[in-house]
Amino acid sequence: MDNYQIADSFSLLSKLMDIHGENSFKAKSYASAAFNIEKLPMQLSETPHEKIFGIKGIGESTGKKIIELLETGELSALKEIISKTPPGIIEMLGIKGIGPKKISVIWKEMEIETIGELLYACQENRLKLFKGFGEKTQKSIEESIEFYLRNQGTFLYAQVEEVFSQIKNYLEKIFFLENVRSTGSFKRHLLTIDELEFVINETNEVVKQKMQSAQPPALLEENKDNLLFKLNNGLKLRFYTGTQHRDERLFNTIGSQEFVTAFKKSFPKIDFSLNGNEENDKLFFDQAGIQYIEPCLRENATIIEIAKSSAIPTLIKATDIRGIVHSHSNWSDGSFTLEEMAKAAIEKGLEYLVISDHSKSAFYANGLSEERIKEQHHYVDELNSKLAPFKIFKSIESDILNDGSLDYSNNILSTFDLVIASVHSNLKMTEEKAMMRLLKAIENPYTTILGHMTGRLLLSRKGYPVDHKKIIDACAANHVVIELNAHPSRLDIDWQHIDYALKKNVLISIDPDAHEIKGFDDVHYGVLAAQKAMVTKEQNLSSFSLIEFESFLNKTKKLKGI
Ligand SMILES: [Zn+2]
Ligand SMILES: [Zn+2]
Repeated sequence: MDNYQIADSFSLLSKLMDIHGENSFKAKSYASAAFNIEKLPMQLSETPHEKIFGIKGIGESTGKKIIELLETGELSALKEIISKTPPGIIEMLGIKGIGPKKISVIWKEMEIETIGELLYACQENRLKLFKGFGEKTQKSIEESIEFYLRNQGTFLYAQVEEVFSQIKNYLEKIFFLENVRSTGSFKRHLLTIDELEFVINETNEVVKQKMQSAQPPALLEENKDNLLFKLNNGLKLRFYTGTQHRDERLFNTIGSQEFVTAFKKSFPKIDFSLNGNEENDKLFFDQAGIQYIEPCLRENATIIEIAKSSAIPTLIKATDIRGIVHSHSNWSDGSFTLEEMAKAAIEKGLEYLVISDHSKSAFYANGLSEERIKEQHHYVDELNSKLAPFKIFKSIESDILNDGSLDYSNNILSTFDLVIASVHSNLKMTEEKAMMRLLKAIENPYTTILGHMTGRLLLSRKGYPVDHKKIIDACAANHVVIELNAHPSRLDIDWQHIDYALKKNVLISIDPDAHEIKGFDDVHYGVLAAQKAMVTKEQNLSSFSLIEFESFLNKTKKLKGI
C-alpha cells in the first residue's frame, strides 16, 4: 500500500465523517493527515512503525490507523462508516462543486440518495428551496452532474497507457502476435479515451470464446464486424474482428472518418486486400507513393495534401527535450528540495531547470513573499556555482490577479530570469473577463510564458472560455511563449489551437509543471500532444540547448525593452 492509497483512505474517512455530522475536530485532523501523508518524501510502508508516530502532523490516533492499514489493508473505522452510507452518496463526492456539507443536506434534508435523483431535483428546481443552495449553486451542480455522467467510462490517455502493454501482451498471447494490432483513438494519442481499440484477426465466435478467462470481461455489444467488452476497471475494449483484410481494417480504424474517406478518394487504385509484414499500415502509403502519415496526424484530410508534397516535418520527440521549464520545489507546494530537483534533472541528462514556485497570492500553495524570493535567489546562485555547467533559472509562476496584473512590483519582477504567468483564482468567469485578465498579463513586459491557458482539467473541469486566436495574436505581438502544460489532465493549450500559434511564429513550451521529481516524466504526454499539432523541436522552447535558452531570454528581454 503506497502513501497515496493511505492518504485517500484518510481523506475519504474525513469527508464521510463530515457528511454524517460526526466529530468535526477529528474529521479535520484526518483531512490534514491525508494532506501531509501525500507529501511525505518516503513511503510509510517502508518506515519502521515507531518512527511513524514521530512524523510531523501524525498523532497517536492517526498513527495507529496507519499501522492498521499497513498491516490489514483495511481501516475498520472507514469500513464501518461506508457501511452506514448509501453508495450514491459516496459517489456524489466525485462531483465537482459539492463538498461534504452540501452532500449532508442533500441526503438528510432533501432525502436524495443517488446522482440521478439529484440531477432530476436540479431540473425540477428543488434545490433552491434549501439553505445554502441558491439558483447559481443549483445550476452549477446540474452542470457538474451532466459532465460527470457524460464522462463515466472515459479515461485520460495516461491512465490507459498504464495498462495498455499488459492488455496488448495478453491479447497477443491468446490470439498470436500477427493477429493483434492496436488502433483507434489510443493509437492517435487522443487526450482522453472512450474505448481502447484493437484489430483482431479472428471471427466473433473465436474471440468471444478466447476471452473467457478467469474474470471474463462483460460483452456490451456484438456487431457483425466488431465486439465491445468492458473490463472490471470500467475501461472498454473494442475489437474489430474478421479473418481477412487485416491491414485494411487497421487503416480504416486508425484514422478519423474524414481522413480515411479523403485518402480513399485520393487514391482509388490502392489494393487494400494486401497485408504487410510490419506493425503499421505503411504498405498503403507506399502504394500511394506518398510520405507515411503517422497515426497521430490522421485527424483530418488536409494532412494528405501535405504528405503528397513530402512536407510533413520531423515531429518533436521526447529525447529532444533539453531542460525542465516550469517546476515547483518545497519552497512552495512541491515535494522536493531545489537541490534534489536539480540533481534529478542532471541525472536525466538535462541541461537546465526553471524553478517557478508559486507567487505570494497563492497562499494555499505557500507562495513566495518578496523576502523569500531574495533568499531563494541567493540559494540558486550557490547551487549554480556548485552544479555548473548545469543551470537553475530563477523564475516564478506568477498568479494573474483578478485585474490582470502580475503578483509583484516591476522591481521584483525584474530579478527573475523569466516569468510564467498563470490564472489560479476566480476561474469561474465570462470570456470577456478571462480575456481582459489574460491580455493584460500578456502585455506585461515581464511575462515570458503564458501558463496553462484555460485552466481546464480534462474530464473534470472545462476551463474558462477564451478566444484562442486573439490570445495567440497578443502573444505574437508581445513576444510571449505559450505553454503546452504537459500534465496529463491539463495538456493546455489544446493541440488543436497550436497550428495557429505556429503560423504566427509563436513558440510553444512543453512544460511538465512538476511538483515532484516523477512529474518530469510528464513531458512525454506534452510531446505526444505536440506531435498531433506537428510541432518540431525548433518550435519548442524546452528543447533549446542551455546556450540557446539563455540567448533566447536575452534577446526577448531586449525586444521587450526590459
Ligand atoms: Zn499553475
Ligand atoms: Zn505550476
